[in-house]
Amino acid sequence: MKHLPDRLLDGYHAFMGGRYASESDRYRALAKEGQEPQTMVIACCDSRAAPETIFDCGPGELFVMRNVANLVPPYEPDGRHHATSAALEYAVQSLKVKHIVVLGHGRCGGIGAALNPAAEPLAPGDFIGQWMGLVSPAADAVSGNTMMTSGERQTALERISIRFSIGNLRTFPYIAEREQNGGLSLHGAWFDISTGELWAMNHDTGDFERPDVD
Ligand SMILES: [Zn+2]
Repeated sequence: MKHLPDRLLDGYHAFMGGRYASESDRYRALAKEGQEPQTMVIACCDSRAAPETIFDCGPGELFVMRNVANLVPPYEPDGRHHATSAALEYAVQSLKVKHIVVLGHGRCGGIGAALNPAAEPLAPGDFIGQWMGLVSPAADAVSGNTMMTSGERQTALERISIRFSIGNLRTFPYIAEREQNGGLSLHGAWFDISTGELWAMNHDTGDFERPDVD
């Protein structure tokens, strides 16, 4: 059995002959001087919504945390294992990023699970069920709305959960403090994987709008 799948080895060879070759100076500088990304992105694990691809970013530009449905839990210093909170702490306290972007996306399986928690193969007690419990009040409110189609409910919860996660970011004392000082900005965005459209959250209203990209 091979050490790695063929697709990955082929991709690595292409990377070394292409992107690494053309950006080797940058990689060496990043190795020597360390990373200094300006932006942290909290994105979903979904294979179709990779932030570096969507924003066309190179090495050293984005500090990325990916989890199921791009959720931020509230600040809970309870001694348990909090992967997302650890990444936030490092990005804000050590790297001093200037922006945090919560990036959601269309057709999110985690959001679908929150809207239909008993759907196979998931059960409410599974890890995903527990994790998506973070947005269960919103999921319950949206899933009970029979005026909306299932597609509308899905998009609504995808966007509501982004606002919810931004609210939870502000429960971290150092994030709230740096935002108030003007050293950190919090943003929301939603990517439609079928059309490639990016929608950005309006900071004043919470609505999602197409940004000017001229
Ligand atoms: Zn997702």
